[in-house]
Amino acid sequence: MMENEKLVAFTFDDGPVEYADDSTAMQILRTFEKYGQQATFFYVGEKMNADNKKELDFAQSIGCEAANHTYSHCFLTKITLEEVVEEFEKTTRLLEEYTGKIPVLARIPFMDSNEMVDEASGFPLIGCSVDSQDYTHNTTEEIIQRIMDAHETGELENGVVLLHEPYLTTMKAVEYLVPTLIEKGYRFVTVSELAKRNGVTLQKGKNYAKIEK
Ligand SMILES: [Zn+2]
Repeated sequence: MMENEKLVAFTFDDGPVEYADDSTAMQILRTFEKYGQQATFFYVGEKMNADNKKELDFAQSIGCEAANHTYSHCFLTKITLEEVVEEFEKTTRLLEEYTGKIPVLARIPFMDSNEMVDEASGFPLIGCSVDSQDYTHNTTEEIIQRIMDAHETGELENGVVLLHEPYLTTMKAVEYLVPTLIEKGYRFVTVSELAKRNGVTLQKGKNYAKIEK
């Protein structure tokens, strides 16, 4: 680890997308590959299939983390706790089958949760400390601006940045942000790595945003 290296965890929700060599997700992954950096991907179980397994394989091959974003991306407070358990377990089984690893992190869809749902998830729950708002029709420039603002205020260091892999605007923002932030002394790590490097043990049923000592 470099002296005064700043850590940041970029996270991408709602994949995998329909597989294509030039899909938004594949291009995001290639940017991380190009610069030797890592990110975390929160996958939706029902979107996974034999075709886009290639996306997960590539993400794994460059050291990215696969995490759980439920099976059907529903409002978890609107279903029974048994169904909540099933939402997470089904995706865990699929991720294990696709990646050979059991996921250790999850993210709640729509941030729609409560204490009982958190507990039933069986996972440490990763929120975010920097919201790119890429899901609200923002331009590439606006997404970049929001993250660079977080850099200026110091919020970006040890931050968990919320992004979504299906958007073209996000893909283009990432192409700019990765080299630009490396230049400013950042290292992109997975959420698990961020916790590990900061000596934080993530606990099941608990919510996390920024992860620091
Ligand atoms: Zn989502």
